[in-house]
Amino acid sequence: MTAHASTIDELTVQRDRARQDHAALAARELKLDLTRGKPSPQQLDLSAGLLESPEAAVSADGTDLRNYGGLQGLPELRAIFSDALQVPVEQLLAAGNSSLELMHDALVFALLGTLPGGQRRWVDEPQIAFLCPVPGYDRHFALCERLGIEMIPVPMTSDGPDMDVVERLAAEDPRVKGIWCVPKYSNPDGAVYSEDAVRRLAAMPTAAPDFRIFWDNAYAVHHLGDEPAAIADLLGLCAEHGNPDRAFVFGSTSKITFAGGGVAFFGSSPANVQWWLGCTAKRSIGPDKINQLRHVRFLRDADGLREHMRRHAAVIRPKFEAVDKILNAELGGTGLAEWTRPEGGYFITVRVPAGCARAVVAKAKEAGIALTPAGATHPRGDDPLDQVIRIAPTYPEQSELEVAIAGFATCVRLVGTEKLLA
Ligand code: PLP
Repeated sequence: MTAHASTIDELTVQRDRARQDHAALAARELKLDLTRGKPSPQQLDLSAGLLESPEAAVSADGTDLRNYGGLQGLPELRAIFSDALQVPVEQLLAAGNSSLELMHDALVFALLGTLPGGQRRWVDEPQIAFLCPVPGYDRHFALCERLGIEMIPVPMTSDGPDMDVVERLAAEDPRVKGIWCVPKYSNPDGAVYSEDAVRRLAAMPTAAPDFRIFWDNAYAVHHLGDEPAAIADLLGLCAEHGNPDRAFVFGSTSKITFAGGGVAFFGSSPANVQWWLGCTAKRSIGPDKINQLRHVRFLRDADGLREHMRRHAAVIRPKFEAVDKILNAELGGTGLAEWTRPEGGYFITVRVPAGCARAVVAKAKEAGIALTPAGATHPRGDDPLDQVIRIAPTYPEQSELEVAIAGFATCVRLVGTEKLLA
């Protein structure tokens, strides 16, 4: 990225103005937070109906849900989410409140027990690795780090990971056991995987016979606009291409109902589901079916889910629009930043000139604006170009968000012009 200001003089004027603006900003002693990819209280209020307790805790087939059992989760809730997650009801499980927990368990189960199609437990391999499209979700990377799984960064494009790189690494290197994918409105850059990318993931040869795609469809129904993005059916394509056991699908209602009191889902091939149930049966006698029932009564059906998500969009769309508008007004045409305009999901990614992201985050902190640490979008917190900053606009109140983004833009102007003049 090069600054568009044509002369040193012009840049100096811009830098001096940015310095003044930053000093004025710091003097306001703000306390604003753009780090949290959480639903706002207003969004959580949309699901207040969940807290009304079910009249009778009985499922459609007459099971008393207050008791033990039902490891697969409530069929009527699985039916509501089957289309959205593109998993047949009988292959979709409803579990506890966190999909991240299920991803953790999937890794641990694969480390400690042989997967369908595998020759040995992952822990018995000399070393295993995961492909990590970057920028990506820091908690995926933290799981790998915690469990001793090497991370191999792969560049993201607006259509999904660079599939030439993915295909080469998966085919060549038997240490590569999996890939992290957030296929719709990805965290953080809002990318939607193209049909071609999904097909290639399903079809590609892999050196590891027990290669798995961790398909974290966290934002499956989180559209901001009126034209929801659609992604290809990974599970179906894997089966069609002779790799039926390749996909692990994850999802949850964390950003649909309550982030701390929702339901998470796991879906896969029949063989993987049996394997999964064999592992989880040792860990639990069954999930919280009462909470699952609350979700059924509250959401009702797939149409109810869609309607509910439209209410979320009505709350958060103005926040995304405000960020874009302010960044345009403050930084448009300066060459100091590029940013995403996602059609859904929870984040906006801003790219600043190489070598500036950490400094922008530090300057924002000085002004009382908390940003996600630069580098968090990369394995081990290392963004080699020091360029990517993740903005989470959903949680703050609209007015606070607008102040915070304007302040952020000031920091980008300051750091960017100082860098160009250095
Ligand atoms: N996956 C992605 C891509 C996310 O962005 C998040 C939360 O930000 C999660 C998973 C967490 O999901 P859960 O709340 O179901 O554990």
